[in-house]
Amino acid sequence: MIEIENVRKSFGTLEVLKGIDLTVQNGEVLTVIGGSGSGKSTLLTCINGLEPIDSGRILVDGTEVHAKSTDLNKLRRKIGIVFQQWNAFPHLSVIENVMLGPRKVLGQSKEEAREMAVKQLTHVGLADKLDVYPGRLSGGQQQRMAIARALAMSPDYMLFDEVTSALDPQLVGEVLDTLRLLAAEGMTMICVTHEMKFAREVSDRVAFFHQGVMAEIAPPAELFGSPAHPELQKFLAATH
Ligand code: ADP
Ligand code: MG
Repeated sequence: MIEIENVRKSFGTLEVLKGIDLTVQNGEVLTVIGGSGSGKSTLLTCINGLEPIDSGRILVDGTEVHAKSTDLNKLRRKIGIVFQQWNAFPHLSVIENVMLGPRKVLGQSKEEAREMAVKQLTHVGLADKLDVYPGRLSGGQQQRMAIARALAMSPDYMLFDEVTSALDPQLVGEVLDTLRLLAAEGMTMICVTHEMKFAREVSDRVAFFHQGVMAEIAPPAELFGSPAHPELQKFLAATH
């Protein structure tokens, strides 16, 4: 599980995370919503150790992410992260892009890495695109390739940061369907998203961030049905 204890994080004089407490259980799907600049992306980059924190602790399966003794590279293999956009290597085919991490980071043989890449690309519905170059994929297909690439590392946790935000509306559904599939399979996920319908349908809990504070967290029926925090009420009124 992921345990976040009183985490504070500033960029210069701007405090972006103001004492976040949050536990994500194995198999849980947590959705994070909130306005731009509320600290959602920073939370994800702190969880996988891309960003240092100022105080508090983040534990992944009991290992403290920011402790000096922690092997971050090893820990990060457990945690897949997919961003709004990922620049694939344009001169490598789709399958070669997906094989890269398992080959270089996990030291897998070509055969092993290929088998895993085929499995994960099939999983995200790209079985017919193995030998295509990424430039030939639609935005939705590129995002699904990015998800396959993360899954090829056999992570225990997946973090998604607005993976549909850069997509044309007609391509959003296919990417959300991939996330739905992962959720149904029991993957532990934290999804930052603006897709409220998705959040409502897929999440075990939804967290609302406002100005670096987790202002509300509840199961979706409760959070959307009877939002308590005035800022959440405003946010929902503006997004519906
Ligand atoms: P969100 O994802 O909710 O939109 P972010 O976590 O990206 O918010 O950013 C929170 C705040 O921190 C914003 O004001 C943003 O400008 C600032 N910020 C994020 N990353 C950096 C950085 N690397 N350096 C300086 N400020 C940053
Ligand atoms: Mg963000």
